[in-house]
Parts: sequence; structure tokens; C-alpha cells
Amino acid sequence: MTPALVHRYLDALPGDATGGHHPRVVEHAAYSLVEPTPVRAPSLLAWSDALAKDFGLARPDTTDSSWLDVLAGNRRWPGTRPYANCYGGHQFGHWAGQLGDGRAITLGEFIDRSGRIHEFQLKGAGPTPYSRGADGRAVLRSSLREFICSEAMHALGVPTTRALSLVATGEQVVRDMFYDGHPAPEPGAIVCRVAPSFLRLGSYELPAARGDHDLLRRMVQYTISEHEPTIDPQSPEAVSQWFDAVCRRTAALVVEWTRVGFVHGVMNTDNLSIHGLTIDYGPYGWLEPYEPNWTPNTTDAQMRRYCFGRQPSIAQWNLSRFGGALAPLVDNTEALEAGLERYAQVYEASARQMYADKLGLAALEGAEDEALLSDLFKLMQQTETDYCLFFRCLAEVPAEGAPDSLRALFEPAYYRADDLRGPVGDALLAWLARYQARIGRHPSEQRREAMNAVNPLYVPRNYLAQQAIEAAEQGDLSELERLCAVLSQPYSAQPGAARYAARRPDWARHRPGCAALSCSS
Ligand code: AMP
Ligand code: MG
Ligand code: MG
Repeated sequence: MTPALVHRYLDALPGDATGGHHPRVVEHAAYSLVEPTPVRAPSLLAWSDALAKDFGLARPDTTDSSWLDVLAGNRRWPGTRPYANCYGGHQFGHWAGQLGDGRAITLGEFIDRSGRIHEFQLKGAGPTPYSRGADGRAVLRSSLREFICSEAMHALGVPTTRALSLVATGEQVVRDMFYDGHPAPEPGAIVCRVAPSFLRLGSYELPAARGDHDLLRRMVQYTISEHEPTIDPQSPEAVSQWFDAVCRRTAALVVEWTRVGFVHGVMNTDNLSIHGLTIDYGPYGWLEPYEPNWTPNTTDAQMRRYCFGRQPSIAQWNLSRFGGALAPLVDNTEALEAGLERYAQVYEASARQMYADKLGLAALEGAEDEALLSDLFKLMQQTETDYCLFFRCLAEVPAEGAPDSLRALFEPAYYRADDLRGPVGDALLAWLARYQARIGRHPSEQRREAMNAVNPLYVPRNYLAQQAIEAAEQGDLSELERLCAVLSQPYSAQPGAARYAARRPDWARHRPGCAALSCSS
């Protein structure tokens, strides 16, 4: 059984049908028709049963390779006309011109069981007109990281693109990754990722930057008609209403990232979805020791443009570029400025509520609560406290009780456990006394449940993903399977899974892939 295929994007928008994947400037087109390049020996490494069910898709069979061949780009899915999207973007604050899907190829748009349409895209499927001299491939480590994190984010309740399959190509890929000091060929892989669309802020910035207002208008009209059921595409306010919707969703997304401690790592405008989904998993990471300046991306270690604490303001900066791109389509730009203002409002209000939820409070009330929160963050930063684990421990704090027993409670969250017995520990106890006084009025069982529903116990820490990668590279998939299973229930303690809810071990702090990563993938 296969889901029904539609061609709404291909039919509605102009494409480049030149053929082939030679690098080129693509103008007046939203996409280029291009075939995936076959790979030598595909094998299935991971599969999302949950997502497959939505589309009535069966796991590839070991006796019949035809479905696996589709997911590897070796065989055409009947009726599809694969394409790569054309887009531009601001990278690290600078306009980069045409970028486009350099290694992602959309197979087509399919209807799921509830009637919603989703794009299926192969990432790492070979060169496209947008590959700019690169190979169009992805290495196993980055593909596996995308697979794990997409599905983990979904389970965490954070808007994200999904991952259906992870297929090893049986081919080697060379990157500027150094293992033991040598650039080493690495195994390649392809992720089949799924989303309502992979349209990005940069999809609209490119035609705008080229002054191609006709293409820009058509793309915006298409997007509103197909993806914004609550906006009348004929209304004179349609464009600003759409901008407003994108601003709200992006604000909600960044709040969710903050809640779970996710750092995207490369928040260029071409890596921000118009649907408010987490998209383009690259050198992402999870805040382990609480440090707002932390970024997992070693390429950004100097500027720290995309560090944890800057994500909210960077998202707004990105939206301002996007709003600028839409300006030619509106009569007056005040409505667009209001959208940016809306971003700030939605972010402020939702972030406040999110922090209240994390603390187990109904709301943050007044300056005292704000001080409670900011003092906590100062303390966490000083002591390198694990962000996720701390909030799980906090749920266990009784409304009253012996402060000394609380020290032991927080030990799992501290990288420097000795600190707990010094002045820092005393400062923590003083903070906890304030917290106890604040929560005193609420029944603790109810509070604990509510807190555990927003403070995850299991997140795909980079060192955990790295262990799954190293095992998978040796042909052992058991760690990957175990990790995915644990991450599918991130809020409930699971028997035998304590090791996945532990702070990063010391050995992992400076080991490649375990904390920080390069862009190379
Ligand atoms: P990213 O920063 O990963 O979002 O990528 C920026 C641009 O580089 C996009 O246009 C990608 O499609 C392209 N790109 C990244 N890696 C490759 C690759 N291995 N081959 C071709 N294009 C790539
Ligand atoms: Mg990208
Ligand atoms: Mg990328």
C-alpha cells in the first residue's frame, strides 16, 4: 500500500527543467527537476514506525529491495518527478545569494491518513544544480544525528521535520573531519525526511533579492493558498497576515527550544522553516552545563552568533530579513513591522509561561518571581549545572524539609559535585529555601506531575548520539535502537535507562562529536 501522490508544488510553480545536476544559476524557478544519483549498496539502518503508520507505509523488506531502493534514490517512486528547491539565505548575518538544496532531493508530496499532504525528501541523495562543487552526499554520523533528533524532538512535543528512514549507502564520503589527526573517508547515508514543506525564509528572500517580484508573488500566493487555511489568499492583508503567522510560530518554536535546551547551531535564514518547524539538523546540541553562551558549532566558537541565549534575538533578526523580502508585496510596511513586534510579544509571553511551567508555578508573578528565576540561572551557570537534569530534580523538592537531604538530590545534575559542599552548595540551599517558600501552597504530587510533563528526562545529548554513531559505524545498530526507544518517551522514567538520564561524563567533554561539532557533515 502506498499513499496517494499529488503534484501541487510542481504544478503551481515554475520550475527549471534543464535537466542534469551541473551547477547553475537558476532564475525564475522555484525548483529544478533532478534525479537522485544511485548508490552502491543500500541497507536500512533505522526506521520510524510511528511516522510510517501515518502514511500506511511498510518497513522495507529484506527479501524485496525495491522499496529500500526508493529510499536510497536507486529507483523512482512511481509517478514522482523529483526536484531540488531553489532558495537563498543570510548565512552568519551576510547575504549569501543562491543556495538551494545542494544535497536534498524531494521525491514528491504524499497524503497521510488524515488527509494532510507532506513532502518526502531524500537528504544526501547526490548532486543537484545547487551543490556548488560539493558532492551532494551526507555522512552517516550527521544523517544518524538528524534521524535521532527529528524523532526525539517530535516525542518531546517540539515542532520539527520528521525522519522516516536512515539508509546506509555502502559508499564512502570524504569530509574535512579529522579522526586521530587524519582526514578519513566515512560511510555515507541518506535520511528520508518528511514535512508539510521544506520552504524556508530564504525561499522568498532569493526572488526578492533578484527583484523577481513575479516569482516572489507566485510563491507567496502558493504558500498561503496551500499552507494557510485560515488566511484568505485574495485578501489585501493576506501577505501581512501570513508574515504575522510565521512570526508567531517562530516565537513559539524558539520558546520550545529553550524549554528543552536545544541549540540549533546554524540559524541562517535558509535553515528556518516557514512552518515554525525545527529544520536542517546540522551541528546542533543540547545544553548540558547551563551556559547561555554555549554553541555546539565549533565554526561559530569565536562569534557565538547562534549560541543558546541568542536564539530568540537571532530568530527575530531572521524574520526581519524575511519581512524585508515580502515588502514589495504589501502597500505599507507597517503591518510587517507589527509582525516583528508580534514576534517579541509572543516570545515574551510564552517564554514567561514556559519558565513558570518549568518551575512548577502557575505563573511568574512580579519581581520576586523574576528574581527567583534569574538567580537560579546565575547559580546554574556558576556551577555548570545540567539544565535538563536540574529541573527534573527540582520536581522532587518537597514543599518543606531538611535542606541537607536536598544536596544529595541535586548531585546528579552537578558537574562539580564537590561544589555542593562549599559556598555554592550553600547558595543553592538558600535558593531552594526561597523556592520552597514559593511553592509551599501547592500540593507536591500535582506539581511534580506537571513539572515532569514539561521538563524532559531524556534528551539526545551529543555524547549519546556519538556512542550510537560509533557503534553503527562498526555495524552494531543495537545502541541506536535502544537510544531511539528511550527518546520516544522523554518524559517518563524508564526501567534500566538511568544511563541515558545522566550528565555528560568527563571523558566526553572534549571528545569530537560528544559536545561540540564542526559544520562538516
Ligand atoms: P547548511 O548550512 O547545511 O544548511 O547548508 C548550506 C548550503 O550548502 C545548502 O545550500 C546545502 O544544500 C549546501 N550543502 C551542504 N552540504 C552539501 C553537500 N555535501 N553537497 C552539496 N551541497 C551541500
Ligand atoms: Mg540548510
Ligand atoms: Mg545542513
